[in-house]
Amino acid sequence: MTIIPDTKDWTWVLERPCPECGFDTSWFAREDVPGMILANATAWLDVLTGPTEVRARPAPDRWSPLEYGCHVRDVLRRYDERLELMLTEHDPDFANWDQDATAVADRYGEQDPVQVSDDLMRAAQALAARFAAVTGDQWQRTGSRSDGAQFTVETFARYFIHDPVHHLYDVTGVRAALCGLCGVKQPRFRDRRRRWSGGQPDVESLYQRTRVLPRPGERATAGEQESAGWCSGL
Ligand SMILES: [Zn+2]
Repeated sequence: MTIIPDTKDWTWVLERPCPECGFDTSWFAREDVPGMILANATAWLDVLTGPTEVRARPAPDRWSPLEYGCHVRDVLRRYDERLELMLTEHDPDFANWDQDATAVADRYGEQDPVQVSDDLMRAAQALAARFAAVTGDQWQRTGSRSDGAQFTVETFARYFIHDPVHHLYDVTGVRAALCGLCGVKQPRFRDRRRRWSGGQPDVESLYQRTRVLPRPGERATAGEQESAGWCSGL
């Protein structure tokens, strides 16, 4: 059985929390998105290189963890291209991207999970770095999708980050409420990121400058976050 193409318009995630994965795109400061991207990518690294059988589909019409990982890698790349367009051109229109056709054409299910995890992390670093460089009025620059959906850089950032978080929920079944950012219950992020050693020169400073948690008191106390197993910050 093949995957049924997802034709839903997900822009409503800008208006209300996602009832499936639990993620709320209004939870965080826009400046937190780079750290969130890296936290989420680290969780994908675990999924793709962990003990789980990543090539197995849970159902014939649902992607395997590997296929989702390929998709997230390509989403990261695509959004980096789109963000660059928004920052360099006046109100650009994004070229259409058929994600389901790409999955078939690129044989997502046959790709090497270790290579995919490497490429996913590199794509995450590139996009995180580009978001981290956004300042001032740049957050209000605009762009449009081929279906007419219009974004500012800020709504684009908030809309985008739900996607890899939601897909992490798709493969782990753990709602974002456990970790407000990367979507999984996990030990301290500082310990986990050591597993990635292929960083670009600016990544360490990016880690130092970005936060993975909402500001204290925004949604939960530090103690509540800790007991819930959220990422503990950078
Ligand atoms: Zn969701």
